[in-house]
Amino acid sequence: MTAAACFASDYTDARRRFLAAADAAGAIVWTYDHPLRGPDGEPLAMDVAWLGPADATAALILSSATHGVEGFCGSGCQVAAMRDGLHRSLPPGLALVLVHGHNPHGFAHLRRVTEENVDLNRNFPDFSGPLPENLGYAQVHPWLTPADWHGAGRAAADAAIADYRQAQGLTAFQAVVSKGQHDFPDGLFYGGQAPTWSRRTIERLCAERLAGLTRIALIDVHTGLGPRGHGEIIAGDGPNAGNHRRARDWFGEDAKCPERGESVSAAIPNTVEKGYAQALRRAEVTAVALEYGTIALDDVFTALRADNWLHLHGRVASAEGREIKAMMRAAFHGEDAAWKTAVWQRAEEVIRRTIAALAG
Ligand SMILES: [Zn+2]
Repeated sequence: MTAAACFASDYTDARRRFLAAADAAGAIVWTYDHPLRGPDGEPLAMDVAWLGPADATAALILSSATHGVEGFCGSGCQVAAMRDGLHRSLPPGLALVLVHGHNPHGFAHLRRVTEENVDLNRNFPDFSGPLPENLGYAQVHPWLTPADWHGAGRAAADAAIADYRQAQGLTAFQAVVSKGQHDFPDGLFYGGQAPTWSRRTIERLCAERLAGLTRIALIDVHTGLGPRGHGEIIAGDGPNAGNHRRARDWFGEDAKCPERGESVSAAIPNTVEKGYAQALRRAEVTAVALEYGTIALDDVFTALRADNWLHLHGRVASAEGREIKAMMRAAFHGEDAAWKTAVWQRAEEVIRRTIAALAG
């Protein structure tokens, strides 16, 4: 099987490939069933494969589909890791833990968000305290979410966005749109007002299965930012003390820090990486995102606006709905073999470096 053949055609196909590869690899598998179904009534779940010694004290966690539709990429890497037998040469005491489908609902429905319209990678603040503010978002919100996707409202919104970008620059626009907001439940990059099913399930996984680990590396696979096929290691200061410094020790200049303006991503305070670090406080957690480029950022934003409009105002089961879902796939997945091959080549390199660092 080539690396490209490890990448699935839809969520159910991805899940089947993952579970088959886990079975063949002799993994311990845990499944957390999701309460909802996919677009064709298919069951949804977060599936976890533990490879290596059951009493391991260190682990590399490789996770997929934090942003639903981005799961094609992470799932393909997880299946390829098992196909290539990376678990067969682990150092003593180290496990490889593959978490498939952080956000299975978004994966199956080709959405970046969860069933609550929440960006899971913005859903890890302390909800008992004041939530982070993003005052600039209120201004751009109506432009991002015009009710008439084909009419004068859309044209005016696009013109307003163009003016804003002209005045403030693309980096400022990207930051205000994408750093997350908790005030507009129908908006983009919404962090929610409560923990989602996906967050609660990650926390349950940590408490039930990962609490015995003392040293952890997390690689959460994403797509949609950066040059096509390139995988950027994003290591923020956020998750816990020393996170970025340790990632720099491991990956050198390859580890980019959003807080220092080095990354294709804006700085994001309440990510999945932070979620694992919070839930596994006894462990030293070094958490990074591995972010792959797909298509131009403008086209990614347009796909996200269209999908948001579709679920608020349109009909998924229509020619237009199918067209928008095709835009979402193209924005967050490279269908060609060259992209998939480049993705796995980079992922394998990053995984091997991480295992070596954890062993050292
Ligand atoms: Zn993402």
